[in-house]
Amino acid sequence: MTLENRTCVVTGASRGIGRAIAEELGDHGADVVVNYRSSEGEAHETAEAIEEAGGNAVPIKADVSDMAQVEAMAEKTREAFGPADVLVNNAGMTVDKKFDNMTREDWDRVMDVNLGGVFNCSNAYFDDLRDADEGRLINISSVVGQQGNYGQANYATTKSGLFGFTRTLALELASENSTANCVAPGFVQTDMLETVPERVQEKILQRIPLDRFATPEDIAGIVRFVASEDASYMTGQILAVNGGMEW
Ligand code: NAP
Repeated sequence: MTLENRTCVVTGASRGIGRAIAEELGDHGADVVVNYRSSEGEAHETAEAIEEAGGNAVPIKADVSDMAQVEAMAEKTREAFGPADVLVNNAGMTVDKKFDNMTREDWDRVMDVNLGGVFNCSNAYFDDLRDADEGRLINISSVVGQQGNYGQANYATTKSGLFGFTRTLALELASENSTANCVAPGFVQTDMLETVPERVQEKILQRIPLDRFATPEDIAGIVRFVASEDASYMTGQILAVNGGMEW
């Protein structure tokens, strides 16, 4: 499953799931863009780790919710590695509140990054992905988009919004032999999960048949498969990677 000579852009790759995806793709030969918003040191560490393992990587700062910054990132990507073959829309955030406390601002912040960012990046790289030999658009959703989750009306809405977006882009890319798929992780041990109170984490754990949270690497391997040639005939799908939770 080599990704040799494939240009792969991973948004939000300074930490957590994005970092694991970037390293996994780099380990399999891809030229990797490590996007980040503010964690400069961690993004550089991720790129260095990929290079030390024999791969190619470049960190590029861009807030995915800002179209001008995303367009500049797409230009820098082409200068560094040529047009993108794979875009992993991974960058995401939460602002958790019960709905009766949620303000319009809390709603908009999460929409701007989790859906606005996906629009911006998919738009800026769309021609690259369409014209690539088997381009891959991979959107990181969540089991929360499938089940809903207490205190996450804004976040859950963005994550289920990705399903319609992915299926539509799958149709629009199919005639060019490029694919669009969603990976929907369950609960993964990252900084994002750390923000969930411990007693809530314990309750979540009771709902996971495999009886553990995912590691970022559990998700990265699936993304690498979707990015690879082995997934050529799969498009418009939601891959649930959640330890067996029902949805
Ligand atoms: P995380 O540890 O909080 O890391 C978030 C990453 O996204 C960081 O690299 C961050 O960059 C980046 N980011 C945030 N806002 C950004 C923006 N506006 N522009 C560019 N980059 C931005 O999160 P994670 O747990 O790895 O989650 C990654 C993805 O998986 C998200 O889409 C999340 O919704 C999804 N997911 C997570 C879980 C989970 O349990 N953790 C489960 C299902 C799905 P900086 O460090 O520079 O801010």
